[in-house]
Amino acid sequence: GKGAAMVTAVAYRLATQHAERQRVLDALRLSREQLLEVKRRMGEEINRGLAKESHDQATVKMLPTYVRSTPDGTEHGDFLALDLGGTNFRVLLVRVRGGKRRSVEMHNKIYAIPQEAMQGTGEELFDHIVHCIADFLEYMGMKGASLPLGFTFSFPCHQNKLDQGILLKWTKGFKATGCEGEDVVSLLKDAIHRREEFDLDVVAVVNDTVGTMMTCGYEDPLCEVGLIVGTGTNACYMEEMQNVELVEGDEGRMCVNMEWGAFGDHGELDDFSTEFDRAVDDCATNPGKQRYEKMISGMYLGEIVRNILLEFTAKGLLFRGKLSERLKTRGIFETKFLSQIESDRLALRQVRSILQHLGLTSSTCDDSILVKEVCSVVARRAAQLCGAGLAAVVDKIRQNRNLSELKITVGVDGTLYKLHPHFSSIMHETVRDLAPQCEVTFLQSEDGSGKGAALITAVYLAGGPH
Ligand code: BGC
Ligand code: MG
Repeated sequence: GKGAAMVTAVAYRLATQHAERQRVLDALRLSREQLLEVKRRMGEEINRGLAKESHDQATVKMLPTYVRSTPDGTEHGDFLALDLGGTNFRVLLVRVRGGKRRSVEMHNKIYAIPQEAMQGTGEELFDHIVHCIADFLEYMGMKGASLPLGFTFSFPCHQNKLDQGILLKWTKGFKATGCEGEDVVSLLKDAIHRREEFDLDVVAVVNDTVGTMMTCGYEDPLCEVGLIVGTGTNACYMEEMQNVELVEGDEGRMCVNMEWGAFGDHGELDDFSTEFDRAVDDCATNPGKQRYEKMISGMYLGEIVRNILLEFTAKGLLFRGKLSERLKTRGIFETKFLSQIESDRLALRQVRSILQHLGLTSSTCDDSILVKEVCSVVARRAAQLCGAGLAAVVDKIRQNRNLSELKITVGVDGTLYKLHPHFSSIMHETVRDLAPQCEVTFLQSEDGSGKGAALITAVYLAGGPH
């Protein structure tokens, strides 16, 4: 009768809506073949970045870092470290004790980088940094002390030596003027001189990946890869000097800062990315740049999710088709919400209350299920893409050494890796699957980037006259 026809119509509508949602989400689900292709292309870019003749055209820059060995435990001394470019800006005092009672003791203070300093002039940014150093020295009762300093600066830098870093491009929303193309050590020294209060000996500029690798290397000598999955993403590893064509010499190894976040900037990821990735890229401070980073790291995942939810709502598949002002607002989904929403202990009722907290008040139980599914698909893709890139790295190291089996440790840091309930396990599983000849151990670093800068400074100063 009539009732049965209506039931059928409703069932039919629900089924089409379901199919419609899954069609959209399927574009974000990558097959094993696709991931193997990502790994293969990453391997290709690694070689192009390393080789002199293709370096300029390569997206993955493979930047030499002048870090040649991991710490051996004999290093010692007091060092200052700066850590700029992650979730927080920090100034640290690091006491390294070597020998039998080896230990690293750290004191640090977190400072805010105000929006004006991030997006104003370079002078303002570096004056602010020096202001924070002065405050820290006073806070530690060390005013006037002149200690060697390691500067963790987590942006792509061209280095010709350890204590130089020419900023190639800002990433992660920074855009202070007058810094790109400049040596950040000079910018820092100029700001110190402007203040006329103290002097510092800047010994090393260090990428956060390198600091993380060094910190983990202090515990585990097999640690020869550093990985960050936080606000941004990147990796470094120990490459054979003979493959580092940008630096003279064929002996031993040097740590290479891959800057893999720029993978995809010449279209290498176009067949795997979606309209949502393009929408996120279009609205960023650096459109067209850091395409791989924008599919993986914490600064962007929430925006991908929001763009998918916008599309679902516009199609009447979510929030009863009502587009709220809130949902149209950039940046409402911070990384921590992604982590919370996917937490296994969380009941749907709580997911709903998170959504309400975000001003998405008209949500139903079905809405909560869908939002959670969207978050999970986006995070899984990120973890798998990251794993595919890492599989290329460890296989490259294995091939460098002509091994059929490689045992290696990856030092990892970053809020997304550490706080997300599933990211790390999906990433590990992907690496295991795509690089079966490598036995990879993951070691989380505690305070890796700042500590690492101090260790690199210590290793360098322990190396005798230069
Ligand atoms: C930067 C890298 C950094 C990574 C993680 C990227 O945006 O380009 O230098 O290592 O973020 O902080
Ligand atoms: Mg060489």
